[in-house]
Formats: sequence, C-alpha cells, structure tokens
Amino acid sequence: MSELRNTRVPAADGAPEVDRKALWVVRELGLPAIVKSCVACRSARHHPTGKVRVNASGKLLDVWMLISCELCDRTSKITVHERVHVRTLDHERLVMFENNDPAVVRQLVMDTALAGRTGYRLDWTGTWELETDLPFHELDEPVSLEVVVRFELPAPVRVEKLLTAGFGLSRPAVRGMVESGRIRLPVAVDAKVRGDFGFFVVTSSSS
Ligand SMILES: [Zn+2]
Repeated sequence: MSELRNTRVPAADGAPEVDRKALWVVRELGLPAIVKSCVACRSARHHPTGKVRVNASGKLLDVWMLISCELCDRTSKITVHERVHVRTLDHERLVMFENNDPAVVRQLVMDTALAGRTGYRLDWTGTWELETDLPFHELDEPVSLEVVVRFELPAPVRVEKLLTAGFGLSRPAVRGMVESGRIRLPVAVDAKVRGDFGFFVVTSSSS
C-alpha cells in the first residue's frame, strides 16, 4: 500500500511566528472516474463495481478490479496482480480482495501507480470540496496566519485553486500576494499537491 501514501510537501524554511492557525480540509466527496475507452461504446468513463475477482491457478493468483462503463454499463477488468505467487501477497490483503472490501476497492481506484501501469487515467473532477474554518475577511486584518491543509483523498489539486477557494480571492489577487511574499508557499503557486501541507500568510511588516 506504499504507493497510496500521500506525498508530503516539506515545510517552508524559516517558518515565521504566527498569530493564528487555520485548518483547511480537502474533503472526499467521491471516487475518481477511471478514464479508458470502452470497447462497446464511445464512452471513456468507468466506475468501480465494488467487486474484486481473485482467480487461483495452482499457487498463482490473478486479481482484477471490476469496473463498469458509465454509459453502457459494460463490465471490464483492471489487472491488479497477474500470476503472483500466493505467498508474495499479504494474506490480510488477499482476504480483503476476496471479500470485496470497500476500503481495498477505494485504495485500488485511487492508486495512480496502478493507473499508470495499467494504462488509464483518473478523473478527479467532483471528488473533493474544500472546507475551511477561516472567513476570508480575516486576511484584511494585520495578523499572520499558518494554514494547514489536510487531504482526505489523494486528489491532485492546484495550489492556486486551493488559495482562491479558501480565501475567496481572485487568481490575480492570490498571485499578487504570493509574489509580494504575503503568502509563503512550500511549492510553486501553480504546482499540484495531493497530500497534506502547510503555508503561511505573513503581515506585510514582518516580511
Ligand atoms: Zn460503454
């Protein structure tokens, strides 16, 4: 499951003293769509059926995740393991596969390494929303702020999009604050992040 671990962004160097802390959460609304062409229709969007198939041939196992086409419902298979020796597969994980465990299905669907290996793309549109306890008008006050952004799912989100949504500001306003050093980010403003990170809003005088 190491491939599912979130990529942690290192904290900014020389973290400033802050007056307030805020928590933003990228909440999970749903699973990403699996984008691969359907052999039966023109659709390219699939969703997991919730089923995992395990086939044993002697001591060798095949494991597939079943997905169905959004348009025509045709079921197809994503190869998770191909002819692996039963002993190389973690027993608990095998039991989860056999039980169609929703947690293991969720992991498989969100596994970008599996997507890359198997040749499909994930569409994360509509899978998350930003929840914040910070009213954006606080940015007008001369206070410094540390914001911790926590991800419930590894959806790739552009930092700029988080900032515009979180502060209720326009893209030029956000870019201006980043350029002036008011907002201090650990990554570029147009980078995509898919795991927990933190950033600072500093008062203009302390920069
Ligand atoms: Zn189809």
